[in-house]
Amino acid sequence: MSGKQSTISPDAAGIARAAEILRSGGLVAMPTETVYGLAARADRADAVAQIYRTKGRPDFNPLIVHVASLDMARDLAVFDEVAERLAARFWPGPLTLVLPLRKDARVAPAVTAGLGTIALRQPRHPVAAQLLRELALPLAAPSANRSNAVSPTHPDHVFASFGDQSPPVIDAGSCRAGLESTIVALDPGAGWRLLRPGPIAAEELEGLLGRQAKSRGATIEAPGQMKTHYSPGRPVLLNCNEPEGNCFMIGFGDVDGDVNLSAKADMAEAASQLYAALHQAAKSDCQRVCVAPIPMQGMGQAINDRLKRAATS
Ligand code: AMP
Ligand code: MG
Repeated sequence: MSGKQSTISPDAAGIARAAEILRSGGLVAMPTETVYGLAARADRADAVAQIYRTKGRPDFNPLIVHVASLDMARDLAVFDEVAERLAARFWPGPLTLVLPLRKDARVAPAVTAGLGTIALRQPRHPVAAQLLRELALPLAAPSANRSNAVSPTHPDHVFASFGDQSPPVIDAGSCRAGLESTIVALDPGAGWRLLRPGPIAAEELEGLLGRQAKSRGATIEAPGQMKTHYSPGRPVLLNCNEPEGNCFMIGFGDVDGDVNLSAKADMAEAASQLYAALHQAAKSDCQRVCVAPIPMQGMGQAINDRLKRAATS
């Protein structure tokens, strides 16, 4: 797919068309409740290779596989009692589980970057859910942006990132959560570990599972958590109480700016606005981006995690 930027409507006819493209090994950008994903069938090496190529993503960075149901997930990974409990509580939803890969799992080796584990998620977004049900195949889907760039929470962001190389995008407007999924690794017999903070806060997981395991002795690797990521293409300064020089100011609460992530200091609202603000900053002609302090409560941990990486670019 090249040369033009096309959208697909999120109705039954559009979803059927997207399913057809995916079934024949093509790419489609699909809305999820976290961010837009660049989807391809996970069982075909050629389809998965196109994801890495389109994103310019290093091939040691494995992909999250999206499933239609818990049953589809159980065909791909070994679910122990803790995994079952997490899925029962948080699926469908913005939680990714890293679990032991089943030997007979039908996924292309590039999906897992050759690891003995696989990252799985059942999305809640009605369009993604319907697409997966209709296709009845697992879909590998990282965020639909060039590697290292800001993730897309709207079709315009996908087009801005891929330009002429953009796959067709199912247009369902803005994503609700606006930050990538929380990732939890389950080491059999060694407890759980948070690999990436996200919309489901660590406190919620602790409420269900107790304390996290110490990473020493853990067998699951966590590749690809790049220190540099989410770059708006210019320096990012954090914890600014006022704009510094020629900057695009991202406000929060009482600290106002060119945009305010949430004037009423609501963390969920701030998370849903973060990437749109960074995309806007990237389009501005300011020399740098200044960001107001964001507290660490709830989703604040995930917001600060992304901002820290954006500032390391
Ligand atoms: P994304 O960049 O949103 O597609 O998220 C993919 C991230 O999930 C990767 O950067 C890894 O950190 C993590 N991940 C995916 N598969 C695995 C795996 N098998 N083991 C550990 N982490 C994984
Ligand atoms: Mg990404």
